[in-house]
Amino acid sequence: MAGIYLHIPFCKQACHYCNFHFSTSLRYQNELTEALLKEIELQANYPGKETISTIYFGGGTPSLMPVESLEMILEKIRQHFSIDPDAEITLEANPDDMDNDNLAAWKQAGVNRLSIGIQSFFEEDLLWMNRAHNAKQAKESIEAALQHFDNISIDLIYGVPGLTNERWEQNVMTALEYNIPHLSCYALTVEPKTPLDKLIRLSKKEDTVPENQSEQFLLLMQWMRNAGYEHYEISNFALPGKRSRHNSSYWKGEKYLGIGPSSHSYNGESRQWNLANNQQYIQAIKKGMVPFEKEELSHIQKLNEHIMISLRTMEGLLLSSLSKEEKDKIISASKRYTSSGHLLIKDDSLILTDEGKLLADGIAAALFF
Ligand code: SF4
Repeated sequence: MAGIYLHIPFCKQACHYCNFHFSTSLRYQNELTEALLKEIELQANYPGKETISTIYFGGGTPSLMPVESLEMILEKIRQHFSIDPDAEITLEANPDDMDNDNLAAWKQAGVNRLSIGIQSFFEEDLLWMNRAHNAKQAKESIEAALQHFDNISIDLIYGVPGLTNERWEQNVMTALEYNIPHLSCYALTVEPKTPLDKLIRLSKKEDTVPENQSEQFLLLMQWMRNAGYEHYEISNFALPGKRSRHNSSYWKGEKYLGIGPSSHSYNGESRQWNLANNQQYIQAIKKGMVPFEKEELSHIQKLNEHIMISLRTMEGLLLSSLSKEEKDKIISASKRYTSSGHLLIKDDSLILTDEGKLLADGIAAALFF
């Protein structure tokens, strides 16, 4: 089974913390849709003969795309790939695009899962982040979505300067009151060259406080556990049976094809990523070429990725997935973390504890070959 990711690189306005590839000019929207349709044809053999079990529209803001474009893209995928009749089809949507007409049309087109960029239910946080929606729209969008979809995820951000633990708790509890079956929660990170990075350097915005972020993450894990959610990946929580199948396939090392500027693909042996420039992408596709760079992965690179990704999951790193020599080396390197309470070994798997999850990247890097 394989997945298809489509990158829709347009947004109404730039959230200050964002470092994804997007443009706030919609000038090339139609041309880009044409290019996506053509790229689907050009890449039809990429995942081999595997059935496609998940399709994911990410971005950018896919909910900004005209419904006709969404329909054409799904139709084109159906023409060129074998699609599992039970495929998960996710659309990332922002609250300000989610009126009843759009919701009904997305469902009609075949979308069966929504991932909503809520980030916070508080006006002050949304303004601070420069989000395009307000607090009222955050709640109204969920209420409208629940009329059409039951498979819904929402994104929330913690560790935002000014977000108290009480407000963070209210954000999470609001999501739980709506019975949202899947939450993705991210610590605000200040990425280089983003508007947020600049504003902090100019002292126009407060910087993040790592201790506050750790505290809010620990609180989050406790609340979600009490509410019966599986903390199945470091940033993702789901009620039983409601995990994101698309994202889970990344974490299981399955194949995926990325369509659109800046999207990544993986075929089990190499990774490739498309050019992150809308106009140059469109021009290249017009000439019948997919503009990408590619990296063949060595055994060591694949092994280190496997360590990094699996440690972030609830199931952890399955030691029997390693050779005897690799297993012995990992067990020896992990001793300092098992004795400090950051890692534990359970049923032949190496698993991060809550405290360990605070240091996940550093611990994974310390176990690398
Ligand atoms: S809507 Fe999403 S992709 Fe667009 S700027 Fe905001 S965070 Fe980035």
